Amino acid sequence: MRKLNFSSGPATLPEEVLRKAQEAIWDLDGSGIGLLEHSHRGKEFGRVLDGAEAAIREVGGIGESYAILFVTAGATQHFAMVPENFLGPGETVDVCHTGAWSQKVIEEARRVGKVHVAGSSEATKFSTVPTELTWSASPRYVHYTSNETIYGTEWASPPPAPAPLVCDASSDIFSRPLPLANHALIYAGAQKNLGPSGISLVIADKQFVETGRTDLPPLAQYRVYVKERSLHNTPNTFGIWMIGEVCRWILAQGGLEAMGARNAAKAKLLYDYLDGSKTWRAHAQPGSRSNMNVTFRGPSAGHEDALIATAEARGLSGLRGHRSVGGMRASIYNAFPEEGVRRLVALLQEHEA
Ligand code: PMP
Repeated sequence: MRKLNFSSGPATLPEEVLRKAQEAIWDLDGSGIGLLEHSHRGKEFGRVLDGAEAAIREVGGIGESYAILFVTAGATQHFAMVPENFLGPGETVDVCHTGAWSQKVIEEARRVGKVHVAGSSEATKFSTVPTELTWSASPRYVHYTSNETIYGTEWASPPPAPAPLVCDASSDIFSRPLPLANHALIYAGAQKNLGPSGISLVIADKQFVETGRTDLPPLAQYRVYVKERSLHNTPNTFGIWMIGEVCRWILAQGGLEAMGARNAAKAKLLYDYLDGSKTWRAHAQPGSRSNMNVTFRGPSAGHEDALIATAEARGLSGLRGHRSVGGMRASIYNAFPEEGVRRLVALLQEHEA
């Protein structure tokens, strides 16, 4: 029996897509060859790539001024690749600092150029996104993490930046309407809302990409992915198929408006319960709360351990918070069912009583 998987990533994927993948791995679209066995230069995979790109564009409402890129690496790759491409020596990136992931963004950017922390929520133990932002004189770009997977915060709307935005959307991509305006580049590791780990989706303004460095190794330059349609070398063909199918699933669910409404309703069930509970309390503060990763704590580590043990015994898996912050975390991405959230709330209520 399959468990309810609250893992932060790799995470729950839509059942329909997983079942379709099982078939495609054996025989892709009646071609007599499995998805994992098709050449990336063949016409069958060509259709997969075209279809995935088209589905992504349709889901996100993404026009031709943006390129859709598949990079064979997780989001961590982009922490280094973005500054290497776009931050010249002496240039400054303004970073909105919301936790563990933006900390890595800062560290990688510092190896290449200057970093100005435009705002930080460290003082609130990263339970908020910063509201007071001050910009440097002329930032090359502004980086933010749309959803902080570990602390469980999410920007309600992008920061009002004076320069092109670069966004790490790993943990909330396509969970709600995509605010493309002012964005030069959005990257997302696939293993939460899109597909398997080890591949990232990049939505990049073609003109912005052209302003990047030209003297890096080919696979380290975004322009090469644009020019060669992510086929400079053998890409993660399976990952691209999965992302395409997950996007078609999102369209069948009614697209991002419907997805966003469903995700907000799911998260509200849990936050409403936590706000009324005398035992469990939410970490993130209203206005900054993530609809994807709900972080919360019990009165003691002992209570948390006991709850996790009961949850595991009942098939509710992956509720322990990130090793760096402890506590509990329920990751409830697009494919996570509302019924699963109800079961978690019932379990928390039972422990409280
Ligand atoms: N950014 C965010 C917001 C994440 O949640 C994660 C992974 N949990 C990463 C970056 C790193 O992704 P990867 O391990 O795929 O490099």
